[in-house]
Order: sequence, then structure tokens, then C-alpha cells
Amino acid sequence: MPLRLGILGGTFDPVHLGHLRAAEEAMETLGLDEVDFVPAAHPPHKTQKKILSFETRWHMLQLAIFGNPRFRLSDMELRIPGKSYTVNTLRRFRKCNPGAELFFLVGCDAFFEMNTWYHFAEIFSLASIVVLCRAECSLEQILSFAVGNVSGLYEADYAKCQIRHPQLCTIYKLFNTRLDISSTRIRELAAQGRSLRYLVPDNLWGYIGENGLYRKDCEGAHLELARNCDG
Ligand code: ATP
Ligand code: MG
Repeated sequence: MPLRLGILGGTFDPVHLGHLRAAEEAMETLGLDEVDFVPAAHPPHKTQKKILSFETRWHMLQLAIFGNPRFRLSDMELRIPGKSYTVNTLRRFRKCNPGAELFFLVGCDAFFEMNTWYHFAEIFSLASIVVLCRAECSLEQILSFAVGNVSGLYEADYAKCQIRHPQLCTIYKLFNTRLDISSTRIRELAAQGRSLRYLVPDNLWGYIGENGLYRKDCEGAHLELARNCDG
């Protein structure tokens, strides 16, 4: 049986329970062998924003996935020079995992922006796409996006909640438990020194608090941490 490999890319600034639960449900529903979390090393969409260093985001991911033998952490985007483009990441995953079936997990907010991504059409031939619900999103909306932006030959299979194409990979809509959690919200709460309990794993909340991450009054310490980790 070929390896069924899930890939969840993101900035993960920080990772939270919305990411972890959606990945867990995708793994269970689609019978994936593992899910690789791929933090963006140089996110093309977030260049204006200040984000924590790759090493700090990586460490937070390590804490968050600890104890789940099927969750892995991938430094693929660190190893690819230049901006972190999903198409390059998936090409590299294909090369490193010959014979594996790839499932690219993406939240519906990001899915509907994929037409702005670098060489986006190729993504649809490199991996099956699994659209994770964050907000209301229907199979019709996913179909019309795929037809309008990628190929007119996509057809919906409503019974299976899939969108199929004669040559390209299948697009799945996952009925995951919707958790309205975002990293943006977590950064706002952390900046005010408020509780992050039940939004991120406890060990990660502890780490964010101990290091004053996202605290405006701890900006120096936070930058210092990033610098130390950058070596
Ligand atoms: P930010 O608020 O900084 O944009 P975020 O919470 O959206 O952060 P990202 O790192 O941007 O987190 O997301 C990585 C991927 O995970 C994206 O595909 C995103 O749509 C998806 N995702 C993020 N949060 C959730 C959630 N609560 N449920 C399902 N998918 C999610
Ligand atoms: Mg986001």
C-alpha cells in the first residue's frame, strides 16, 4: 500500500488547536499514515508582517505535536532557498517520497486565495487537496473555484464530498469540527498577557508565557530569543 502522506503548511505563528484538530480529523477520515507540519521559512504572503523566527515557530510546533506518533515536523521549506512557495514544497515532497500519495491540507480561507499563489495550477496535479472548514464553505463554492481557476473538467461527487478530474488530483472537502481559532487572535491575547488555555496545548502556553512571546513590553526579549535561535 502506498504511503498516504498529509502535508499541512503554514506560518504557525503560533500553531494552535485549530491546526492540530483539523490535521487529526483529516488523518482519521482519509486514512492518512502521517501528517507533516511544514512551517514556512520565508512566507511570501506575510512579508510585511513581523513574525517570530523559524526556530521559535519550529520549537512551538515541536511542543504542540509531542506525543502524537503520526504528526511530524518537516524542515522542507527551510531547505528550499528563496520564498516558501507551496508548489516547490510539493514538488520536493514528491521527489523525496516516490510512490506516496500526497494530500495537501488547506483551510478554506487559504484555499480560496490559491489563485494568487505562485504557479498555483500545478499544485492541483501534485497532490490531492483537502479543504478544511474554518468558516461556512460548500462543495459548490469549491467546485466553482476549481472550474473557474484550474480546469473546466472538474465534476462534483456530492455523495463522497469530492471534486474529481480526469487527469488532476481529487479535491476533498473535510467535514471537520470547526474551531474558530486563529494565530492572529492568539497573538492579540498573548500581547495583553491573557490566558491561552484551551486555544493552544498547555505546554505551548507555558512556553509562550515564560518567554514573553508576542508581548509588546517584552519585544526586546522576544527579538533576543529569535536572534539566539538564529545562531
Ligand atoms: P493567522 O491568523 O496568522 O493567519 P492562522 O490561524 O490562519 O494564522 P496559518 O499558519 O496561517 O494559521 O494557517 C496554516 C493553515 O492552517 C492554513 O491553511 C489555514 O487555513 C489552516 N488553519 C488555520 N487555522 C485553522 C482552523 N482553526 N481550522 C482549520 N484550519 C485552520
Ligand atoms: Mg492564516
